[in-house]
Amino acid sequence: MKSATKYIHAGSHPDPSTGAIMTPVYMTSTYVQEAPGVNKGYEYARSQNPTRTALEEALAVIENGKYGLAFSSGVAATDAVIKLLNPGDEVICANDMYGGTYRLFTKVFERFGIVFRYVDTTVAANVEAAITANTKMVWLETPTNPLMNITDIAAVAAITKAKKLILVVDNTFASPALQNPLDLGADIVMHSATKYLGGHSDVIQGALVMNDTELRDKLYFIQKSCGAVPGPMDCFLVLRGIKTLGIRMKAHCENGKIIANWLRANPKVSKVYWPGFEDHAGYAVAREQMKDFGGMISFELKNDSVEEAKRVLSSTHLFALAESLGGVESLINHPASMTHASIPREERIKNGLSDSLIRLSVGIEDADDLVNDLSKAIG
Ligand SMILES: *Cc1c(COP(=O)(O)O)cnc(C)c1O
Repeated sequence: MKSATKYIHAGSHPDPSTGAIMTPVYMTSTYVQEAPGVNKGYEYARSQNPTRTALEEALAVIENGKYGLAFSSGVAATDAVIKLLNPGDEVICANDMYGGTYRLFTKVFERFGIVFRYVDTTVAANVEAAITANTKMVWLETPTNPLMNITDIAAVAAITKAKKLILVVDNTFASPALQNPLDLGADIVMHSATKYLGGHSDVIQGALVMNDTELRDKLYFIQKSCGAVPGPMDCFLVLRGIKTLGIRMKAHCENGKIIANWLRANPKVSKVYWPGFEDHAGYAVAREQMKDFGGMISFELKNDSVEEAKRVLSSTHLFALAESLGGVESLINHPASMTHASIPREERIKNGLSDSLIRLSVGIEDADDLVNDLSKAIG
């Protein structure tokens, strides 16, 4: 089945009791059993809920995986993955990950004895060089947030397969419409469904997709034991969001291309980070592993002061000043003081994330209106 069809039909089955074409929102905490231990596969809603089941099936289908698991947030999905590990185990991860992932790793899991090694994963050899006898997992994000660095998933997968390590890819920025890490050799795909999967900035949710049954069983056990499950209404919203993922991503990519090129031609802009530029360091890999280049763009101004960045950030009207990304509406963000404020300044600068960097999540409004808005703000 082609992806456009998958987005509409994945996980959708007419409701068995009424024929309702849309999956009902099953607001229930428990299920009546016919006799002790005799049930219809549903016992208690932390363990199973039919709206969640439909969503988890859809997640698996759209990421070309066998199993999907939904969580109450993206970080809850990440949290579940790290709970596969034991004290002393090591994780190799990208050095410019989402700030909340970095915070979870350094501030929560380091206390439990998990060791995280941060490397520039855009060079696969760096991952190999960081492997020790205790390494159990490699955590990638590509494109990265907010610098749009690209890591070659297949190249890293060749290393993790040889060393029997679990390869996890945070696929939030690309979405399943642009990149399918399981096809490239990843073991687990993680999503903040809050972003492109939901697509309308109206829900917080996380997702994991995998092929291996043993991994699925372990992660399902963690999901129900730790309890970070999404409510049925939230599952319904993401199920509905997925139906338009294909056309939304097409529009995000078209607008992204226009805005990236416009910014690059603007004399007040010094640098634009977008993997669709032929001279972007990750262009060749991005072209190979992604279907298009997405609507996430970061840029720096020639006047490289925090004050000037803050002035631009406060001057747009259509681009709303807010954290998050991937919704139909355009957003503008200042990573240093917003999404990435939890990373120490020294760390940030070292990784190329300057004080004046501005990040855009390009929405699906008319491109001319978006360009006008930026044009007035940049001045
Ligand atoms: C937002 C985000 C997360 C965290 O997801 P939440 O749904 O906010 O918990 C993780 N990774 C990336 C790349 C994100 O953008």
